[in-house]
Amino acid sequence: MKKDITIIGAGLVGSLLAIILCKRGYKVKVFERRGDMRNENIAAGRSINLALSDRGIKALEEVGIMSDIRKICIPMHGRFIHNADGHSSFQPYGKEGQFINSVSRGELNKQLMTLAAAQGAEIYFHHKCEAIDWSTNTVTFETKEATLVSQKSDLIFGADGAFAASRLQHQLQHDRFQYEQYYIDYGYKELHIPPGKNDEFQLEKNALHIWPRGNYMLIALPNIDGSFTCTLFFPFEGEISFASLNTKEKVQSFFANQFADASNLMPTLIEDFFQNPTSSLVTVKCFPWIRANKFALIGDAAHAIVPFFGQGMNCGFEDCSVLSSLMDNHGEDWSTILSAFQELRKPDGDAIAELALNNFIEMRDKVADPKFLLQKKIEANLHQKHPDKWIPAYSMVTFRPDIRYSEALERGNKQEAIMQEIMQRGGINDNWESEFIEQLILAKLNAL
Ligand SMILES: Cc1cc2nc3c(=O)[nH]c(=O)nc-3n(C[C@H](O)[C@H](O)[C@H](O)COP(=O)(O)OP(=O)(O)OC[C@H]3O[C@@H](n4cnc5c(N)ncnc54)[C@H](O)[C@@H]3O)c2cc1C
Repeated sequence: MKKDITIIGAGLVGSLLAIILCKRGYKVKVFERRGDMRNENIAAGRSINLALSDRGIKALEEVGIMSDIRKICIPMHGRFIHNADGHSSFQPYGKEGQFINSVSRGELNKQLMTLAAAQGAEIYFHHKCEAIDWSTNTVTFETKEATLVSQKSDLIFGADGAFAASRLQHQLQHDRFQYEQYYIDYGYKELHIPPGKNDEFQLEKNALHIWPRGNYMLIALPNIDGSFTCTLFFPFEGEISFASLNTKEKVQSFFANQFADASNLMPTLIEDFFQNPTSSLVTVKCFPWIRANKFALIGDAAHAIVPFFGQGMNCGFEDCSVLSSLMDNHGEDWSTILSAFQELRKPDGDAIAELALNNFIEMRDKVADPKFLLQKKIEANLHQKHPDKWIPAYSMVTFRPDIRYSEALERGNKQEAIMQEIMQRGGINDNWESEFIEQLILAKLNAL
C-alpha cells in the first residue's frame, strides 16, 4: 500500500514535491497557510523574481514542466556592473551559452500548484499548521474561520519555509535537536523600475544588474513586462543605513548620489522606499531533518540561506530531485529513503549556506575591484583551457548539478587559496596569460 502523504506548505518546494509524489502514485494532501494565489490577489511572498539556474532546471525538467516555465524566463548571461564613477561593464557568468534565468516567483508557484492539482494533489488553502502529534502523526491546522482541523497521515513533509511551524513542532519534541539561526546585519527592500513608454526594458534586458558600493548594493532583475525588480541590500543600522535614511529628502539625495542611473528610472522611489517592507535575511541550520519513516523537512524549512548565490529555491528543487532518485532506488522503504536523504543533503545544505554568505562580499564589493576582475579572467582562461581541472566556484554551483554543493565548496576553497598566492606575485598584471603562470597554477592544483 502506498503511503498517505501530507505536505505542509504549497510554496515552490512543497508544490514541486507534490507533483513528484503524485506522479509516483501517492495520495497527497497539501496544506497552505495563505489563500490561493491563482485566484486571490496575494503577494507571492519574499522577492518578486528569482534566479533559476541549472540545479532547479534539472528538477523541473524531471517533472516535465520546464518547457512551460521557459516561456516566462528571461535569460541573464552575466552581471552588468554599474560602478560608482558612472561607467559600466559586463561580466559573463560562464562560458558562451551559459546563463541563469529571471523568473517570476508568483507565476512559477502558480504553475507548480496547477500541475500538482492536475496530478491529483488536493491543496487546502487557508490552513495554517499549528501543532503536530507525533504519536499519531496528526497535524492540526487552523482555518480562515479559526476552526481547527486535523489530518492524520503516514508520512509528513515540512515544506513551510524558513520560519517553518513544522520544524518548531519537530524541535520541541526531539531530544538533542540541533538548531542554529543567524541573521546578518543587512536587510533588503524591493524597489521598482517600470517599463519605458513603449513597454521597452530601460536597462539591458539579459543581465543581472548590480550597483556594488562596498558595504551595500542594489541589484535589478528583469521581468517579462519590461520592468525590473530592484533589491537594495543595506545595513539596518549605522551612518548609512535603513535607520538613517529616514526622510524623503535623504532617500532622494542618497539615491541620486549613489545610484544615479537607476534612480532616474524610478518614478515611485519614495513611495516604494517608505511603503515596502524592510525584510531580514536569515540562515537556518538544523539537525536531524527527519523522524524515522514518517517525517522530513525539505527546502527552506530544512536549510534557509541568504539569497546572494541565487540558490535557495534551486537547492530546494534539488532536494526534491535527490528524494525522487532515492525513491527509485529504495521503493517503499521510507526509513532508508529519509535517512539517505538527510545524510546526502545536510552537508550540501550547510555548504551552500556558507557559499551564499561569502558571495555577498563578492557581489557588493569585489565585483568592482580590478584585482578581483583580473583573478576572474585568469580563472576563466584556465577553465577554457582545462575545463575538467579548473572550474570556477560560481560555475560549479550554478551550472554543474553533477557537482555537489559540498564538493563545490571544497574545490572552490582550494582554488581560491591557490589564486590568492598567484595574485600576490609581482608582475601578474602583465604576465597573467603566460604559459609559466598557467603551469604554476596547475602544479599547485596537482600538489593538493
Ligand atoms: C530576497 C530574496 C531573494 C531570493 N532570490 C533567490 C534566487 O534568485 N534564486 C533562488 O534559488 N532562491 C532565491 N531565494 C530563496 C527562495 O526564495 C527560497 O529558497 C524558496 O522560496 C524556498 O522555497 P520553500 O518552498 O522551501 O519555502 P517558501 O517559498 O517560503 O514556501 C513556504 C510555503 O509554506 C507556507 N507556510 C508557511 N508557514 C505555514 C504554516 N504554518 N502552515 C501552512 N503553510 C505554511 C508559506 O505560505 C509558503 O507558501 C531568495 C530569497 C529571498 C528572501
